[in-house]
Amino acid sequence: MNIYNVIAIIAAYFAAWVAIDASLEAKFASITQHPARDCPVPPNDQAVQRLAQFLQFQTISDSHSDDHIKSGHHAAFTSLLAFLREQYPEVHSQLQVEEVGLGGWSRLITWQGSDPQLKPILYISHYDVVPVTPGTEQLWSHGPFNGSVADGFLWGRGALDVKLGVIGLLEAVTRLLARGWTPHRTIMLSFGHDEEVGGSGGAGEVAALLKTRGVQLECVVDEGGVVLLDGLKGLAAQPMALVGTAEKLYTSLHVDLVSPGGHSSMPPTDGSDIAGQAARLITRLNAHPFPARLREPLPSFLAAIAPYAPRIVRPLMAYSHIQPLSWVLAQLLVSSRTAVLDHVTAALKAAGVHGATLSISNASHIGPPGHVTASNTTYFEALRQAVQEHWRYADKAVAVAPFLMSGGTDSKHFADLTEHGILRFVPVSVNKTAGELGSVHSTNERMRVADVKLMVCTYARMMELMAGASGSPPS
Ligand SMILES: [Zn+2]
Repeated sequence: MNIYNVIAIIAAYFAAWVAIDASLEAKFASITQHPARDCPVPPNDQAVQRLAQFLQFQTISDSHSDDHIKSGHHAAFTSLLAFLREQYPEVHSQLQVEEVGLGGWSRLITWQGSDPQLKPILYISHYDVVPVTPGTEQLWSHGPFNGSVADGFLWGRGALDVKLGVIGLLEAVTRLLARGWTPHRTIMLSFGHDEEVGGSGGAGEVAALLKTRGVQLECVVDEGGVVLLDGLKGLAAQPMALVGTAEKLYTSLHVDLVSPGGHSSMPPTDGSDIAGQAARLITRLNAHPFPARLREPLPSFLAAIAPYAPRIVRPLMAYSHIQPLSWVLAQLLVSSRTAVLDHVTAALKAAGVHGATLSISNASHIGPPGHVTASNTTYFEALRQAVQEHWRYADKAVAVAPFLMSGGTDSKHFADLTEHGILRFVPVSVNKTAGELGSVHSTNERMRVADVKLMVCTYARMMELMAGASGSPPS
């Protein structure tokens, strides 16, 4: 069999994949939501009202200000923090609440466990939001800071990213306190005020504080993946809960080009002009993207969703970590490598651009794609169990899979402090096809009212399982 036969077989295989994709679409429509397990102490409608009010504070962060709070918005942060004290008196009286970060605007809350020898579990969220793009206010069905509850949704900036997490965690703790439950392992909550501008003044300072205290964390749970109601197009025709076990890093490069100069009436004809050099470099980079490779957590992600995928692609997904399947899949999926400088340097050479200098911008997070959290730990299992007990569809538990986050979160600041890694997930459902995921940082951000209860129950269950009261915590 020559290479052309191999290519033809692979092409036929994926053509079949694409063909059955259409039949999957019909199955999505029949999915309905059936919450399965009730909380021992379920949240009441107050939780929805609290979240609606919480969305009204215009807590917008800004990297250009000294304390990372946008000029004119300090009163909103002050009111928001007062609101939390007022609405969650048990948390503020029974747990240790510390003002941390630039200006003391972030919060570190510690719920002391009964066994001080055990490392704490940290849950992260943030209460800052991104601004509404000027001129788009009129496009919102309900004002971005009105906190409207309408048509089965809570509407507003922060409804998904991620004021819901702050309220969800505080509600969960309140309900566990009401039950007289005590964690075996210490539980910490870190609420940042500047995540949207990098988090250095909030979560970064919390991490630095924990470091000076010699605190090592057992596991970190942060925002990230959600329950995708409409599954994964072409791969899984059922709701999927995706848990971020790694973050895509990024880098910004400055390329300084040099030109001999001269009068614009006599531009050089040898291609040494700046525009010509830049054009050649961009064309070259565009034509030669980074080589694709399949690396963790992608093989784990594919293996986890394989049972829900069309039969024809299951073996390919289940064994994607093995060559040559790995190579085949890598050609189909977008991937990148960290040797950005090498790649751009080679492109400069190939484009005939000489004397240029490359430098990495300070805002970059370049490095080996390390810090991939294993998806076979007891903590991942605890999260999976908490999700599957509460999120069921058509009498089936929602599938839970690890995935690579394309965005950055505050958890990066804690990467060196955690033994069992970072799980990035918020228990909320999103219909991607309906544009709900696209509403994050955009227009008409909203979450399902029905999800508030599920979210609180899931967080409470996660805490029970991860910080176990029974004396047999996960190890
Ligand atoms: Zn966020």
